[in-house]
Amino acid sequence: MAEYPLIELYIDGQWKRASGQPIINPADESVLGTVPTATKADLDDALAAAEKGFKIWRNTAPAKRAHIILKAAALIRERVDVMAAAMTLEQGKPIEQAKLEILRGCDIIEWDATEGLRLYGRIIPSEAGMRHTVLRQPIGPVAAFSPWNFPMSSPARKVAGALSAGCSIILKASEETPAGAFQLVRAFHDAGLPPGVLNLVFGNPAEISEYLIPQSRIRLVTFTGSIPVGKHLAEMAGRHMKPAIMELGGHAPVIVCDDVDPAATAAASVIGKSRNAGQVCVSPTRFFVQETIYEQFAQSFAERASQLRVGNGLDPSTQLGPLANSRRIDAMETLVADAKAKGARVLAGGQRIGNRGYYFPLTVLADLPDDARAINEEPFGPLALVNPVKTLDEAIEKANALPYGLAAYAFTKSASNAERLADSVEVGNLSINHFVASVAETPFGGVKDSGYGREGGTEGLQCYTVVKNVSHKTL
Ligand code: NAD
Repeated sequence: MAEYPLIELYIDGQWKRASGQPIINPADESVLGTVPTATKADLDDALAAAEKGFKIWRNTAPAKRAHIILKAAALIRERVDVMAAAMTLEQGKPIEQAKLEILRGCDIIEWDATEGLRLYGRIIPSEAGMRHTVLRQPIGPVAAFSPWNFPMSSPARKVAGALSAGCSIILKASEETPAGAFQLVRAFHDAGLPPGVLNLVFGNPAEISEYLIPQSRIRLVTFTGSIPVGKHLAEMAGRHMKPAIMELGGHAPVIVCDDVDPAATAAASVIGKSRNAGQVCVSPTRFFVQETIYEQFAQSFAERASQLRVGNGLDPSTQLGPLANSRRIDAMETLVADAKAKGARVLAGGQRIGNRGYYFPLTVLADLPDDARAINEEPFGPLALVNPVKTLDEAIEKANALPYGLAAYAFTKSASNAERLADSVEVGNLSINHFVASVAETPFGGVKDSGYGREGGTEGLQCYTVVKNVSHKTL
C-alpha cells in the first residue's frame, strides 16, 4: 500500500504541524492530507534560523559539509521506493518515473556536494609586495521557490546548490505536491544537518515571496515556474538588488532533418513527450519536420502515441499518468479546441479521458497555422505539435520565433547541420539526437523569456557564490 506522509513545516531543525489546504490525488481526486500554512511568525523564525544557520554552515569545513550532504543523498537512495509512491500519489507521474526523478535528484546532490570542494578562487599575478586574491564566497541565505511538476528533483537542485556552496536556504516548495520536498528535507535532517541551514515552508506563494524577497537577510532568490510569475519575482528581487536564478517556461522545438529514420525518431519522440505527461519545462513540443519525411513521421508518432497505456501512476504498467491538476486539463482542452478551429488535424488523442481523475491522452496535432494558440503558448501538458518545413533554415527560423529559449532538440546525421544548429538555435540547452536536456554536471537554464542564471554544473554552483577581490600590500 502506498502511504502519504504527514506534511510539516521545518524551521530551525524543528518539525511543526499546522492547518492548511488539502492535497489532492490527481488519479482519483481524493484528499491525501493537508499542507500546513506558515504564518508571518513562522517566516520570521525561518529568517532568523537561516541567518544563524548560515554563520554555522559557512564556517563548517567544506569536506564536512560534503559528508553530511552525501549522507542525505544516501538516505534518499535507501528510501526511494517509499518516496516515489508518495510523489506518484500527489503528482500523478508513473511510479518508475518518480523513482528516476528521485535518483536523478540524488545524482545532482552528490555532484554538487563534491563540486563544492572545488569552488576555488585564484591569485592574480602582480608586482612584488602586492597580492590580489579572488575569493569565491557563499552568497548568504537563499529564498527558493520550487514547482509542482518535479516535487523532489527541482527542490533538490536548489537545496544542493545552496548547501554545497556554503549557503543556508529557506525553501518554499509547492503546496500541491509537498511530499517530494518534505521527504528531501527529512533526509537532510536525518543526515545531521545543523539546525537553521535548511528550512521548509508552505503557504500562500504570493504572500511568502512578497514577505521573504525584500528581507535584507535574503541574499539570493531562486525560482522555477511560469514566466509571468518569474517576471514578477525578478522585478521584486531587482527592486531590492537581489541576484536571482530564474528557471522559467519553455516551448521546446524539435527539428527533424530528412537524413534520419522517421519511425525511429517518432518512437523516441513519444517517449520524450510522454515523460511526466509533458508537464516539463523542456518537454519536446513544436516538431518541425522536413517535408520529405513529414507524413511518415507524423503517422508513426500518432500510432505510437495512441498505444500508450494511460492510467494510475501506481500501476506499474502505466506509461502516461494523470495530469497534476485540473488547470492542466482546462489548458489542454482550450488549446486543442483553438487548434481544431484554426484547421489543425488531430492525429491522436484530443479529449479528456473519463471525468474522475485528470486523465488526458498524448495528443498529436498536425498542420497548425502560425496563429494557433498552442504554437505560441507553452502547453505544459501532453500536446505534440507537428508541422512540415522545407529547409533547415526555415526550421531554425520557426524554432527561434517565440520569446521562449529554454531547450531545443534536433535529429540529424549531418555534422554540418549539427554545427549550424549549435550556432543558431536560441536556447540554453540544445540536445542533438536524444531527448535528455541536462544532467547533474551540465549547466541548465534559459535565454530570452525563459530566464537567467543556471542550475547544475559548475556554472550552477557559482550562482550561489559572490566574488570578492582582496588586494593585500605586504608591509
Ligand atoms: P502559476 O503561474 O500559477 O504558478 C507557477 C508556479 O509558481 C507554481 O509553483 C506556484 O506555486 C508558483 N507561484 C505562483 N505565484 C507565485 C508568487 N507570487 N510567488 C511565488 N511563487 C508563486 O501556474 P500553474 O498553473 O501552477 O503552472 C502552470 C504554468 O507554470 C505552466 O504553464 C508552466 O509554464 C509553468 N511551470 C513551469 C515549470 C518549470 O519547470 N519551469 C514548473 C511548473 C510550472
